[in-house]
Amino acid sequence: MGFFTVFSHLLPAQQLPHSAYGLPYINRISLYKESLVNHPQKQMKSLADIPGIRLDLRYASDNNFMHKQLYPENTKTSFLRYPAYLALDSIAREVGRMGLELVIFDAYRPYRITVKLWIPVKDERYAANPTKGSGHNRGIAVDLTLADLKTHQLLSMPTDFDNFSDSAHQDFKGTDSIRIANRELLKKVMEKYGFISLSTEWWHFSWRDPQQFEVLDLSFAELAK
Ligand SMILES: [Zn+2]
Repeated sequence: MGFFTVFSHLLPAQQLPHSAYGLPYINRISLYKESLVNHPQKQMKSLADIPGIRLDLRYASDNNFMHKQLYPENTKTSFLRYPAYLALDSIAREVGRMGLELVIFDAYRPYRITVKLWIPVKDERYAANPTKGSGHNRGIAVDLTLADLKTHQLLSMPTDFDNFSDSAHQDFKGTDSIRIANRELLKKVMEKYGFISLSTEWWHFSWRDPQQFEVLDLSFAELAK
C-alpha cells in the first residue's frame, strides 16, 4: 500500500464477541456506543424520522414468506447507518417531487433474526448465512418499493416482496411495460444516491463498503433509546 495506511472503521475483531456461528458482532448497546466514538457516521438512524417514507415492516407481521411474525409486534420503525439514512432522505424528497413515497419492507435486521430465518431454510438463495451476516444485519441494506403519495397505493412491480423466483430479477422482462418501468424507476433513483442494487431482488438495495460496518445484534427497542 506504499505510504498509505488503510484505516478500518471497525472495532478490532479480537475485541468483539463472536456469535455461535463464529462471526464477530456487536451484541451490547455499550459496545455499539464504543464503536461510534471515533466513527459517528456509523450511527443508526430511525427511518420514521424521514418525511415521505412509510414503513410496512413485513417481519413485524405475518405478511411475509415465512408466514411468521419475526419482529416484535410494536416495531414501528427500522434503522440505517447515517450515510444510507441521508441518501434515503434525499431519495424520498426526489420521489416526493414525482408524487411518490417510499415504502420500507425491511431495513436493519437484528442478527438473531437472521439466525432464526436460517435454521429452517439453510439455503443462501433464500436466507443470509449467519457465518457471514448480511447487509441488513450491518444496518446498510433496505428493502423497499414505491407508492402513490396521495392514495398510498403501491406501484405495480413484477412481484411482491420476498418472491424468490426469476420474476424478481432486475433483468426479468416477462412482464408488462408498466411494471418494468416502475422497477427501473426505483433502481435508477436508488443508484443515483449511491445505493447498489441486487440482480436477484428488485426491492433490495445496499450501501457500499459493508465491511466498514459491524454486524449488530441489538433489538429495535435498544436502538430506539
Ligand atoms: Zn433485503
